[in-house]
Amino acid sequence: MVTELQAVHVVGGGLAGSEAAWQLAQAGVPAVLHEMRPLKGTAAHKTDGYAELVCSNSFRSDDSEHNAVGLLHEEMRRLDSFIMRAGDANQVPAGGALAVDRDGFSAAVSAALAAHPLITLERGEVTLPDNSWDSVIIATGPLTSPALASAIAALTGEQQLAFFDAIAPIVHRDSIDLDHAWFQSRYDKAGPGGTGADYINCPLTREQYEAFVAALLTGDKTGFHEWEVSTPYFDGCLPIEIMAERGPETLRHGPMKPFGLTNPYQPGIKPYAVVQLRQDNKLGTLFNMVGFQTKLKHAEQVRIFRTIPGLQKAEFARLGGLHRNTFINSPKLLDGTLRLKANMRWRFAGQITGCEGYVESAAVGLLAGRFAAAERRSEKITLPPTTTAHGALLAHITGGHLETIDAGPSSFQPMNVNFGLFPPLAAAPEGRRGGQRGLARKSGLSRRALTDLARWIEGESHTAAAAE
Ligand SMILES: Cc1cc2nc3c(=O)[nH]c(=O)nc-3n(C[C@H](O)[C@H](O)[C@H](O)COP(=O)(O)OP(=O)(O)OC[C@H]3O[C@@H](n4cnc5c(N)ncnc54)[C@H](O)[C@@H]3O)c2cc1C
Repeated sequence: MVTELQAVHVVGGGLAGSEAAWQLAQAGVPAVLHEMRPLKGTAAHKTDGYAELVCSNSFRSDDSEHNAVGLLHEEMRRLDSFIMRAGDANQVPAGGALAVDRDGFSAAVSAALAAHPLITLERGEVTLPDNSWDSVIIATGPLTSPALASAIAALTGEQQLAFFDAIAPIVHRDSIDLDHAWFQSRYDKAGPGGTGADYINCPLTREQYEAFVAALLTGDKTGFHEWEVSTPYFDGCLPIEIMAERGPETLRHGPMKPFGLTNPYQPGIKPYAVVQLRQDNKLGTLFNMVGFQTKLKHAEQVRIFRTIPGLQKAEFARLGGLHRNTFINSPKLLDGTLRLKANMRWRFAGQITGCEGYVESAAVGLLAGRFAAAERRSEKITLPPTTTAHGALLAHITGGHLETIDAGPSSFQPMNVNFGLFPPLAAAPEGRRGGQRGLARKSGLSRRALTDLARWIEGESHTAAAAE
C-alpha cells in the first residue's frame, strides 16, 4: 500500500536547496522549497531565479580523471544530479571547464522545479523554521538572511555565523620541500594533542624577508565589495599585506616570528623570519599557512608565496581570500548525515555547512536531499565512502577537519573539494616521476572513487527496494 508521505521543507532555492528538493521529489517524497527572493533580496543575487550564479559562470574543471571538482561533476552525473543536468544542457565553450549560460541555466532549474508534481514553491523569508515542520533542510548559503542566521546562532550557542572571512592558503603536504623546511613546534611544545613537531617551518634570511615584504606591499590585491565593508573580521585576523603596511618588522613579530625554532640544516644560524604551516586535515595531506590570510589576487599569491624557501614548488589546495560568508562550525554541530545535533529535525546543506563553491554546494544539497528522503521513507542511510569526492567532502564537513592543536580559534573554514581530502592510495603509482607521478596518483584516486561510488549506488538501490 502506498501511503502519502509528509513533505520535507527546504529553505533556500540556491544551488544546494534546488538540488535537495529535486532529490527528495525524485525519491517520491514531497518537498516544499522556500525562497525569499524577490520579496527579500541578498547583497549579491540580482534575479528571482532559482540556482542563480552570483559571480562567475563556471563550474570549474570538467576533467574527471585529474581534477577533484571534475570528479565531483562525474559522480553527481552518476547520482542523477539535477544541477549537473541543467549545467550540461546550458554549457557554453570554456576549454576544459564546464561553464554555463547563467540565465539559461537558472531558467531551466526554475522551470523544472515548477513543473515537478511533488515540489511546491513558496516565496518568502523563513526567519525560523515552523515548529510543525518535522524535517527541514536549511540551504540558505553564504548570504543567509540575518534573522535566520541569528536564530541558528541562538540554537547552536555560536556567537556569530557571518564573518568577514579571512582564509589562509592551504598547501599539499607532498609539494613542500623538506630539504629546506622542517617539522618543529615552537619551543618544542607538545601542547594538548601535539607531538612537539607539529608545524612545518620555512626559514627566511633577512634579504629574503625584506624582498617578501616588498612583494606583499606592491602585489596586486582584490578590492572590497561595497557591502562587505560593515562586516567584522573573523576573530580579528588581519590580512598579511595590511600587517606589512604597518611597518617592515610587523610580520616578523607576528605570524612570521622566528623565535623558539632551530633550523636543523643550519643549526648555528638563526632564521630572520619563519613561515609556519599547520596540519589541516586528519589525513595529514594538507597544511595551512598560519596567519597568512590575504586579499592578494590568486596569481600573485602563487608567485609571491613560492619565493618562500621550502615552498618553491608548493601546490595550493586553496588560496587565501577575504569575503563575507555565513557558515556553521559543522564538525562540532552536525552529525554524519548533516543533521543538527541540537535539533535533529534540521539538516544543513550547501555553503552554510562549510563547503565552498557552486558545485560543492549542490553536491552537499544532493546528499542532504537523499539522506532526508531515506529518513522519510524509513530506509537505512548509508554514507558515501570517504574515497569518493562526495564522501571526502562530507567527511571534511562533518568530522575530517582537525581541531586546533594549540590555543586559538577553531580553524574550520570553507573549502573546495580537492584531492588532499581523499585518503591516500594504498600504494603510490610506480615508475613515474615528477608531474607524471602526480597525474598517475590523481588518476588512481579518481578510478578508486568511481568504483567505490558504483558500489555505494548499488547498495542504496537495494536498501530502497527493500523498503518498497
Ligand atoms: C559575492 C560572492 C561571490 C561568489 N562567487 C563564486 C564563484 O565565482 N564561484 C563559485 O563556485 N562560488 C562562488 N561563491 C560561492 C557561491 O555563492 C556558493 O558556493 C553557492 O552559491 C552556494 O550555494 P548555496 O545553495 O549554499 O547558497 P546560494 O546559492 O546563495 O542559495 C541560498 C538561497 O537562500 C536564499 N535565502 C537566504 N536566506 C533565506 C531565508 N531566511 N529564507 C528563505 N530563503 C533564504 C537566498 O536568497 C538564496 O537564493 C560566491 C559567493 C559570494 C557571496
